[in-house]
Amino acid sequence: MRLAHFHALRPVCPACRLQGALAPLALACVEEERDEIVRSGVLGCEACGNRYPILDGLPVLVPDLPRFLSDNLFYLTMRRDLTPGVTALLAEATGPGAGIDAIRQHVSSYGWDHWADQDPAEAGGEQVEPGQVSRVLAQLLDGLPAPLPDGPIIDLGCGAGRTTADLAERTGRLVLGVDLSVPLARVAWDAVVGGHVAYERRRAGLHFERRSFSVRAEGKADVWIADALALPFADEGFALVTALNLLDCLRDPKAALAEFGRVLTPGGACALATPFDWSGAATPLANWLGGRGGRGAQGGEGARCDLALDALLSEGPSAAGALRRSRAPGEAEWRIRLHDRSSMQYLTHLSWSAKGQPGLAA
Ligand SMILES: [Zn+2]
Repeated sequence: MRLAHFHALRPVCPACRLQGALAPLALACVEEERDEIVRSGVLGCEACGNRYPILDGLPVLVPDLPRFLSDNLFYLTMRRDLTPGVTALLAEATGPGAGIDAIRQHVSSYGWDHWADQDPAEAGGEQVEPGQVSRVLAQLLDGLPAPLPDGPIIDLGCGAGRTTADLAERTGRLVLGVDLSVPLARVAWDAVVGGHVAYERRRAGLHFERRSFSVRAEGKADVWIADALALPFADEGFALVTALNLLDCLRDPKAALAEFGRVLTPGGACALATPFDWSGAATPLANWLGGRGGRGAQGGEGARCDLALDALLSEGPSAAGALRRSRAPGEAEWRIRLHDRSSMQYLTHLSWSAKGQPGLAA
């Protein structure tokens, strides 16, 4: 956690905020700090007494900390200095598709897309070009219909961190990347704060190769672990909210849009990309936007997730908070590399909205 981000963003206790109270967090203890970056310490809430750890530089600011820690203890405390041969053996012994292998596959796909274009060991000739996430972000920023008001930027679901780094480089503003995935947040933090990327790149099956290289780190970006549905911030602090391929991974997308609107300053913008790739594991069926079969709220347009999203961002009974569509939506192709011979292709929907601005007619 960069101290500059902590002082500028003034986080509040996520547990108190869910109860409707804004209680500032204080640095209760700093155990390891260098160059204004706290690598280990504790943040505390004086109102409720809750304490939140800063672990390997990542503050963990979630409302139900005991539950999050129980679910993620393995990821938070797992060693990252295991040699490739031992890692491969552990992955094989614990079974493909689970544990270490599942983490490696996930980090391989996103680590590659986010950072492989800066990896000198990449020889090219892949079936997919790396940096798709960077191009989709550029499309979203180029499409912003109005200049941003003053203020910092929050990049929700930042994954391996590339969009967070790009936002800082392109705007020169303070940018905070937020994610709930510990393995990806670790990659993101190492990249945007430490200027270094290390991940295992999947070739095929259980065969991975370790990659380690330097990347540009601007000093204006940081990464925290927090829940997009319960952001640890007071109202109206941010000029721009970005969320790429996040909305369809949340348990309540409508509540998330309201939360994005809450933390935006009046006139602030929200830029979203989502492939509407719903899964019951992430989002209960009742909360899918227009993705249900049969008769939905959209009548005969039941499969039009984009119309359902539009309704949430328009004036009327379905409006999800203060965000209103600020220009016509767009589409972008997005391919994720799985291994040497496989990739997945999405058509991701691009949406622009703003706080306190009337929506455009369709
Ligand atoms: Zn509290």
